[in-house]
Amino acid sequence: MQANILVNAGRLEMRELPLPEAGPGEVLVRVKAALTCGTDLKAYLRGHPQIPMPGPFGHEFSGEVEGVGAGVEKFRVGDAVMSVHSAPCGKCYWCEKGQGNLCESIMGSKVLGAYAEYVLVPAHIVSQNMFIKPGHLSYEEAAALEPLACVVYGLQQIPHSHQDTVLVIGAGAIGLLFLQTLQARDVSQVIVAGRREYRLRLARELGANQVIDVREENLAATVMAATEGRGADVVIECTGKPEVWQQSVDLVRRGGHVLLFGGCPKGTQVCFDTARLHYDQITVHSPFHFDPAAVSAAYSMLTEGRVKPGRLISGSFSLDRLEEAFSLLQSGDCVKYVIRP
Ligand SMILES: [Zn+2]
Ligand SMILES: [Zn+2]
Repeated sequence: MQANILVNAGRLEMRELPLPEAGPGEVLVRVKAALTCGTDLKAYLRGHPQIPMPGPFGHEFSGEVEGVGAGVEKFRVGDAVMSVHSAPCGKCYWCEKGQGNLCESIMGSKVLGAYAEYVLVPAHIVSQNMFIKPGHLSYEEAAALEPLACVVYGLQQIPHSHQDTVLVIGAGAIGLLFLQTLQARDVSQVIVAGRREYRLRLARELGANQVIDVREENLAATVMAATEGRGADVVIECTGKPEVWQQSVDLVRRGGHVLLFGGCPKGTQVCFDTARLHYDQITVHSPFHFDPAAVSAAYSMLTEGRVKPGRLISGSFSLDRLEEAFSLLQSGDCVKYVIRP
């Protein structure tokens, strides 16, 4: 089978790899759609601690079952399926505490390699986090199950209500998925802040109540003006920049919640005013990854059409043109691309 391999930072190579065979509990999927993701772009530009090089990569996918291993009963050859690339072990300390997202083997046992003709999905993922794709859902929308599961898990950590004003900082794929998910939950006021014109325009088209271009407007002043000087009820940070993490705490109202969603480079630090956290009782959350409950909630949202990630897909490329997709992603005049092997 053909696979587009990440050889080292900045270098991709199409390689012919042996077609894997499905062992017990495993499912071999012929990839129909693989989405680009910020993590993959980071890996391509400068390497990523969770993505070994040289090696296959890409982790947002959907496809058709090509082979099933012994004991697989939920899926048959020819089924259209959608899946995420990880699942908890169910046995470790964290799994037993109900924190499957922090399972000690969740990263080590994940599957990478959606930028290929086939991907072999391990048994623990098949049994927990793989689903049948209904016919009315396109393969490219189905491939957004993983990022949507991250977003859904993040929102499950914070109390929020219909009347809230939620500020989303960062208008990339994750920020826009937060916008769509908040709208699906009838949150009355969603403000999106960003710095790329294309993405801010898309946020507006998707129905954001207010869009702030941080290159032209003062973010803090604009948010205070929009909230009678209180600050947003909830602030969701989706940039992965320490300075934005720090600023987020100053944009939320007294008693509000901050979701620091974008992972920053290892070793970076931020500094918060203790009075803000204590006397203003700001609650700060920084959720990591997702658990199977979030994946099935995301699956329902996609299959019921409550979230439509198709709007975030800016175009498509064949497998051997992945590099072009990555160079366009750096321009910011797009959100995500679909790769069709
Ligand atoms: Zn992703
Ligand atoms: Zn575990």
